[in-house]
Amino acid sequence: MKAFISPTHDVPWPGNAMIRGLLKQHHDRAERSIEILAALKDDLRLDCQFVPRAAERPVELFEVHAPDYLHYLETAWDEWSKAPEASFEVRPYITTNRYFPTLRTHIPVTLAGKYLGDGGSPLVQDAWSNMNGSVDAAVAAADAIIAGERSAYALLRPAGHHAMRDLAMGGCHIANTAIAAQRLAKRFGRVAVLDIDVHHGNGTQQIFYDRDDVLTVSLHGKPETLFPFICGYADETGTGAGEGYNCNLPMEGGTAISGYLGPFDHALERIKDFAPGMLVVAAGFDTFRHDPFGNLDIDTADYALLGDRIAQLGLPTLFVQEGGYKVDTLRANVNSLVEGYLKRQGA
Ligand SMILES: [Zn+2]
Repeated sequence: MKAFISPTHDVPWPGNAMIRGLLKQHHDRAERSIEILAALKDDLRLDCQFVPRAAERPVELFEVHAPDYLHYLETAWDEWSKAPEASFEVRPYITTNRYFPTLRTHIPVTLAGKYLGDGGSPLVQDAWSNMNGSVDAAVAAADAIIAGERSAYALLRPAGHHAMRDLAMGGCHIANTAIAAQRLAKRFGRVAVLDIDVHHGNGTQQIFYDRDDVLTVSLHGKPETLFPFICGYADETGTGAGEGYNCNLPMEGGTAISGYLGPFDHALERIKDFAPGMLVVAAGFDTFRHDPFGNLDIDTADYALLGDRIAQLGLPTLFVQEGGYKVDTLRANVNSLVEGYLKRQGA
């Protein structure tokens, strides 16, 4: 397995996130990446490639996201910061709503409400550059799989699985996992995305919701208990040609590995039945029992079991970094998942 390290994996994210109504320092800390890199480089001794900035944006960025949204992400901070006494982060404080569903003025304050979908997704200076660093790593790792690598790991920040076609959510602005899957679908025809982050992969779901060439499967804490709260139900199964190609497996809070493996094996069965050419794993570690943003009860050793079962699918596999916020255990948890995967793959 090769690891692809984003050029922006360790840049600080100086923004805040609103958690239960309180503004707190954003939880996507640079230390997360430093711990994960230690697992990939020092513990697992993977061939770690530090990805340079790509000269051009990949076409899949424009296939996955709407052009007006990308233009907004690129220009928003500059426009916002021209206002006197503007905050250092772009943060919505008015949104369209059921009485005023149509935006009639396109000024920084209304555009923030249109494109930034919650209190945890502010834009800060250099945010566009940072999020494109994530894209560069995801694309480089996908290209390695296309070139014949059996498996790859894309270490990147910020993550992407909450980012929708034209709406930022959950600290995610650009859908790295979906961009990789889109690129890989051109080579492999059918691609499966297995999202094991504790939060519903709502962005990946939406982007492929009407397609039958990309199966999206998400295991997560049920919406009544965890972000995004408004989606991730089992009856969200796809639409049009995509009907039956989205699978949500929401779980009760407190679920430990004994309860997790049933839905997990069900997810793997769905993937087997789909018979994809390769697999993308949206690799979040906030299922860990002590994660401050999760509510499941998965332990470090359990991740090896998951890695082992993923490897049993026998598919080329790309792991793309998503969440995981218990910083001092990220290294051990990443190590466990990847080691479990590699042991089986080598067997
Ligand atoms: Zn998460």
